[in-house]
Amino acid sequence: HARRIEGIDKNIWVELTQLAADYKAVNLGQGFPDFSPPSFVQEAFCKALNEGFSMHQYTRAFGHPNLVKILAKFFSRIVGREIDPMEDILVSVGAYQALFCTFQALIDEGDEVIIVEPFFDCYQPMVMMAGGTAIYVPLKPREGCGPVLSSADWVLSPEELASKFSPRTKAIVINTPNNPLGKVYKRKELQMIADLCIKHDVICISDEVYEWLTYDGTKHVKIASLPGMWERTVTIGSAGKTFSATGWKVGWAMGSEHILKHLKTVHQNSVYHCATAAQEAVAVGFQREYDVFGTEESYFHQLPIHLHEKRLRLADCLKSVGLKPILPQGGYFMIADISNLSKKHFKFPDISSTKDEPYDYRFVKWLIKEKGLATIPVSAFYSPEHRNEFQKYIRFCFVKDSTLQAAEDILRQWS
Ligand code: PMP
Ligand code: GLN
Repeated sequence: HARRIEGIDKNIWVELTQLAADYKAVNLGQGFPDFSPPSFVQEAFCKALNEGFSMHQYTRAFGHPNLVKILAKFFSRIVGREIDPMEDILVSVGAYQALFCTFQALIDEGDEVIIVEPFFDCYQPMVMMAGGTAIYVPLKPREGCGPVLSSADWVLSPEELASKFSPRTKAIVINTPNNPLGKVYKRKELQMIADLCIKHDVICISDEVYEWLTYDGTKHVKIASLPGMWERTVTIGSAGKTFSATGWKVGWAMGSEHILKHLKTVHQNSVYHCATAAQEAVAVGFQREYDVFGTEESYFHQLPIHLHEKRLRLADCLKSVGLKPILPQGGYFMIADISNLSKKHFKFPDISSTKDEPYDYRFVKWLIKEKGLATIPVSAFYSPEHRNEFQKYIRFCFVKDSTLQAAEDILRQWS
């Protein structure tokens, strides 16, 4: 096999999705909704399929014209500048492929890419496959300010972040709202990152797939909208998260034409087209959201309200059984501290005696096999260098309606 895939054959989603299925576990692990997308996009998909041959055939390689036009119109209003639909956007097979094109197009052998931990796990293998070196900087729970209750209490040290920039730094990857923590970066935090990017002439790759899912009045800010950042930011989005349609695998990268043209080079020589009918349906969805933006009818307004209740319900349930959840400001995941579980109370075996795997991995596997509940070990979102320091959290997904009840039943019986 090629050297570029050395050491990345294991994948947390492959491994735990299979284990959860083998044990028929209630799955609060892998994140996707267990409800359908809103009817206006479902109907648009069905309509597209019945519209004659064109929706069943190839469309424009870099994005179906209807989709790139409405994405440009929609996000021009958000970013506060004119986005060119044909030059500044690439539609991809989910956010995954947008990320892959970005790293392949921009990272060379020897380049360094700064990744903020905890991070969505694919960033590291993608940097490696492009020949780059990942340099990690962790978000850390704030010290000395009382108990850490919210993802807002996890912060970057500006000094530590600044120390990671070197003449070899090509890019930094951020994810807001963050998976798995749920942190939503404040404007001030983004400005600090932006200042460093500008100072060191570094590209910012901003994964914003959960951009519409924020709670308690927290506002999502696009780093591309800060002064001097449009020219050096690639913003990644996903219709899967935006319209609760993860199986459609429609995503995009957005940014200045002088960067995006390189992503298109990778795309045209690897994937070339994305599914036409799905893109048409997403286009109709964005047009509808454009028309009702800022009103109570908007799905981008309704979905977080719906999830907010489930988020509080899961947090209450976790607390009631002795786990310590960190309340997320955004996204659809919640991490919880398992280190204080009383063994007498919870009756789990002394799994800390086997040292071959991080503690949270062993705990998660035990939970699936013995209790029928699947979650994700948070150390999977850390680099091998820092994994040992972050073994005491597990991640719960709270987007799923029916499974949440089943999970509560398991947790309550167990305690
Ligand atoms: N980035 C993050 C942070 C994610 O959680 C996901 C979820 N799968 C992705 C990217 C990939 O999204 P998609 O399903 O659109 O490829
Ligand atoms: N983004 C989802 C999660 O974090 C799904 C990841 C995947 O299946 N690869 O759970």
